[in-house]
Amino acid sequence: MSKPTVRALAVCGGTPAFPAPLHVGGPNVGDRRRLHERLDALLDRRWLTNRGPLVQELEHALTQYLGVRHCVAVCNATVGLEVAARALALRGEVIVPAYTFVAPAHALRWLGLEPIFCDVDPVTHTIDAKKAAALVTPRTSAVLGVHLWGRPCDVDALQALARDAHLRLLFDAAHAFASASNGTFVGHFGDLEVFSFHATKFVNAFEGGAVATNSDELAERLRLMINFGFAGYDRVVELGTNAKMSEMSAAMGLTSLEQVDAFLEVNARNYQAYARELQSLPALRLMTFDPGDRVNLQYIVVDVARGAALSRDELVEVLWAEGVRARRYFHPGCHRMEPYARDPRWRTAQLGVTEALCERVMTLPTGTSVSADAVTTICDLLRTALEHATEVRRALAARRRG
Ligand SMILES: *Cc1c(COP(=O)(O)O)cnc(C)c1O
Repeated sequence: MSKPTVRALAVCGGTPAFPAPLHVGGPNVGDRRRLHERLDALLDRRWLTNRGPLVQELEHALTQYLGVRHCVAVCNATVGLEVAARALALRGEVIVPAYTFVAPAHALRWLGLEPIFCDVDPVTHTIDAKKAAALVTPRTSAVLGVHLWGRPCDVDALQALARDAHLRLLFDAAHAFASASNGTFVGHFGDLEVFSFHATKFVNAFEGGAVATNSDELAERLRLMINFGFAGYDRVVELGTNAKMSEMSAAMGLTSLEQVDAFLEVNARNYQAYARELQSLPALRLMTFDPGDRVNLQYIVVDVARGAALSRDELVEVLWAEGVRARRYFHPGCHRMEPYARDPRWRTAQLGVTEALCERVMTLPTGTSVSADAVTTICDLLRTALEHATEVRRALAARRRG
């Protein structure tokens, strides 16, 4: 495809480049024949949920893949975090990053715990361990790190902080399946880690998640808690809830997991294509990763420089008009969302890095529904828009006037 002229941009009246929208987190669908076989088998068995053979098989496959002692399959990562917080008997305050999806903060607050928002590192976007240490009070019971964008947190620093301050340490690993830090898979860090297999995550079970831990005791408690505290027929030994994964979800999870290498390859190919194309656009900085980390690359994270010819929001608008559903993750920051924003502490808090990232970061589509050619087209659109910023801005203003 030849490079679009400014007139060809959809915001300037041209035809959208992608009639079928491209999404950030467009689902990876694995081998549907394998999925159908599993669904037929589960219907024949009439064992639809309650730790059926597919859930057991998925849990086993996950522990094998990660080399971790236990993986407890759950209905989704948010409820998984809630159960995890209960299993760890958290109370009072829990330190969480402000720059992330709102689920971890909400999961804590849902239980009556108080999320204490910590700023993140400007380069890695993960929780700043030094700033977290400064937030510890006598009421703090835990630190919850998020391996944002699939990039492992500074686990050594957080482990040292947890040890020294006698805190529990858990991780939201929703983005980080198959990621590793210095040769150790995410799933081994802290007391436990919670993965998400939501449809938008690169390995998916429609809805689903898993709690990974190397503690036998925690695994046992988690298993009781996700099933109403049942320790056998008619025997309830704990307060519990229903956080079980269904067999249908496990069927999809297994089918997805079989393709994990293929998904990783596509993500790496698309990341390389973005890196190549964006090299000539210094205003758009693609996130890079430490050579010691293995990252699943399920997010294409671009920092739009403050002095760029078009702002992040303007570029997102240009792309949406083309059918490219770029996202402003995680605008405006968890501390600026309700119910936290109404708390005077967060209304006046200065979380400078989080707030700057919320203004500058956009994520671009990748995954198996995005071809390398599509990446080139997306980058050509960005290049054209930036080269004709004045005209684009005029067109955007006209659109807003309707
Ligand atoms: C997706 C996501 C979650 C929630 O996962 P669900 O399985 O949808 O509940 C939690 N944390 C982060 C960082 C996420 O991106």
